[in-house]
Amino acid sequence: MAGTYRIAVIPGEGIGPEVVKAALKVLDAVQEAAGSVRFEYLMCEAGVSVIPKYGTNLPEETVEKLKQSHACFKGPVTTPEEPGSPVSVAVKIRTMFDLYANVRPARSLPNVPCLRPDIDLVIVRENTEGFYYAREFEIAPGVGISTRLITRRASERVARFAFNLARKRKKKLTYVHKANILKLTDSIFKQAVLDVAEEYPEVEVEELRVDAAAMQLVRRPQTFDVIVTTNMFGDILSDEAAGLVGGLGLAAGANLGEKYGMFEPVHGSAPKYAGQNKVNPVATILAAKMLLEFLGETGAAEKVEKSVIEVLREGKVKTYDLGGSATTSQMAEAIAEKVLQNA
Ligand code: NAD
Repeated sequence: MAGTYRIAVIPGEGIGPEVVKAALKVLDAVQEAAGSVRFEYLMCEAGVSVIPKYGTNLPEETVEKLKQSHACFKGPVTTPEEPGSPVSVAVKIRTMFDLYANVRPARSLPNVPCLRPDIDLVIVRENTEGFYYAREFEIAPGVGISTRLITRRASERVARFAFNLARKRKKKLTYVHKANILKLTDSIFKQAVLDVAEEYPEVEVEELRVDAAAMQLVRRPQTFDVIVTTNMFGDILSDEAAGLVGGLGLAAGANLGEKYGMFEPVHGSAPKYAGQNKVNPVATILAAKMLLEFLGETGAAEKVEKSVIEVLREGKVKTYDLGGSATTSQMAEAIAEKVLQNA
């Protein structure tokens, strides 16, 4: 519980700077409460808005700061969609630092409108390949081809990560694929999961095709524990899972590799709400909680989660998505105050 951590902070774009500022307020409260924990923030630039200055959305200066840091804390950035525009900042960092497991929990929280009160699942998404490998070709005008990379190595390591997590939780793992259509690539993924499963006889294994998984998540979300899947399926299912438990304002994600981690909300830069001090900072605050876990500051992580739950349970401070009118900064202040009270 004593340490100084260098955190590379990417405030991001749109609502990014507001939610990151809110989460840093909570991390500052953690420092104040713990006394022995220190964060040194290395502020970094990234995103579409820095392209005119640097010619890239991920400047070399930022990459250097990431390399010097213990972990990265990232707000959402805006990603242009035109063909030929730069690869997303998140995808670049995930690939560059080999952050192969994207961990996205979805859990019912008190006083938050949700499908059922007993949802507690985690989506583990392969984070470095799949369709997000994103090699696309126009082979004739109006005819495009997108390639999807699936390797035994990446499938096996994300499966092992997911089984290790399931073993610590409710001991159930659901693997999701579409091998009936993507016969070659998803059979590689499927076989890797089944082979790794042999090392974890205590974990119950369930198989679902992605279309059925999307439906079963709505029909029986309480029966899921850990869901492991390929990159794009995991991206889509984790937004669906967020929707089951109150929306994107509450959903956090960790991008984990062997030595480095990047922590961010699941949501994007929601440009239409930018600068309004309106959106929910809880997703980003829960990403900060996952950062603390990664740093080994489990006590501090528990305090942040407890403080979020207490503020939600009291229901006095709620942002618009939860049916209230509190601002982003009011929500952050309420949670930071609880952290100090829970010290
Ligand atoms: P989005 O997640 O930004 O927003 C979709 C909707 O979700 C919003 O309009 C809002 O209703 C709700 N929402 C999102 N965050 C919220 C919050 N904190 N509190 C309350 N409600 C919230 O998705 P989008 O509009 O599809 O994408 C906008 C931009 O973000 C795009 O450029 C996209 O590429 C980018 N994006 C970035 C990341 C990332 O940086 N990791 C992830 C996803 C999308």
